[in-house]
Amino acid sequence: MGLTRDFFIKLSENQALNAAAKRYGLALGANKVVAGVDIPSTIKAIRVLNAKGITATVDNLGEFVFSKEEATKAKNEILAMIEAIHESGVKAHMSIKLTQIGLDVDEEFCYENVREILLKAHACGNMHINMDTEDYKHTMQTFAILDRLKGEFKNVGTVIQAYLYRATEDIDQYQDVRLRLVKGAYKEPAEIAYQSKEDIDENYIKLIEQRLLNAKAMTSIATHDHDIIDHAKRFIAQHNLNKELIEFQMLYGFRTELQEQIANEGYQFCVYVPFGQDWYGYFMRRLAERPQNLQLVTKSIFTPAVNKRIAAGAGIAAAITLIAAAKNSK
Ligand SMILES: Cc1cc2nc3c(=O)[nH]c(=O)nc-3n(C[C@H](O)[C@H](O)[C@H](O)COP(=O)(O)OP(=O)(O)OC[C@H]3O[C@@H](n4cnc5c(N)ncnc54)[C@H](O)[C@@H]3O)c2cc1C
Repeated sequence: MGLTRDFFIKLSENQALNAAAKRYGLALGANKVVAGVDIPSTIKAIRVLNAKGITATVDNLGEFVFSKEEATKAKNEILAMIEAIHESGVKAHMSIKLTQIGLDVDEEFCYENVREILLKAHACGNMHINMDTEDYKHTMQTFAILDRLKGEFKNVGTVIQAYLYRATEDIDQYQDVRLRLVKGAYKEPAEIAYQSKEDIDENYIKLIEQRLLNAKAMTSIATHDHDIIDHAKRFIAQHNLNKELIEFQMLYGFRTELQEQIANEGYQFCVYVPFGQDWYGYFMRRLAERPQNLQLVTKSIFTPAVNKRIAAGAGIAAAITLIAAAKNSK
């Protein structure tokens, strides 16, 4: 098995490795893409971004939520972060994943949790809450919950994945909702999603243009793809679009020079800032998305010594996974 997408997806899904990683704190170089394990270190990282004219959307990392207790714990962590953002005065809002606050446990319970988060965020300066989209089933459930909440709350938004055929209709449906546009991070079948990079990129550009021409709320273009960013910039200029309602987003620790360059050009820029002890699955999924990130990240920000630790870490993780698989097959 090489350093492929499936390899890292498998690692990200390994609960034993996930649990082990929590005990070790940020390791394998994850501190470059995860802002901190607790609220104070994350607020500190956001201040550094704010000083460069960059805002943040903060994600409380969490994996494998199977009980109401775990979901309530995650919800309380999110509430605490909302309060910390508000009290510290940093320029930031939050991104949440509904599976983390009970979507798989009980949909109604999850809906109530989102409401509580939105009420708290509203009380904290009407802070925006973005509901991230996940695999197709959970994305459809997320949209259903959005449909119930968008009349009551103006501080809620979601994410449109350009690989889905239905994305065009979703963009029309949510013209007055704040949206983040992404290519899409999960493995979906050809019945519902474009498969090739070319088709996904083409649809992504089409959706960006469609959204920017018709949006009545903020649009976040979330990609590390410089060609698509350049295309969006040209489109914004050609159509003289209001930059107040448009921002670019990238993940914390990725292409930081480009992030700063775009912010310095006068565009709004927001960085997705993950934090928490549950960093391992997130880190492995970033490598799954783009195994070259291992080199790209290491080339751009890691020292040779840390490079070796990442490679060794991935190797150890692979070894543990293979041992576990061998044991299970016995
Ligand atoms: C802020 C943010 C939020 C997201 N939220 C969601 C979500 O809620 N739901 C969801 O499904 N997905 C989400 N995603 C993930 C998204 O769907 C993609 O899987 C992910 O962003 C990778 O695609 P890309 O657009 O960055 O470009 P890619 O197709 O990965 O890359 C395109 C090109 O960009 C360049 N490039 C990419 N990365 C780098 C790098 N690190 N260094 C140098 N060059 C690089 C390369 O030339 C590459 O060929 C989010 C992504 C971001 C940035």
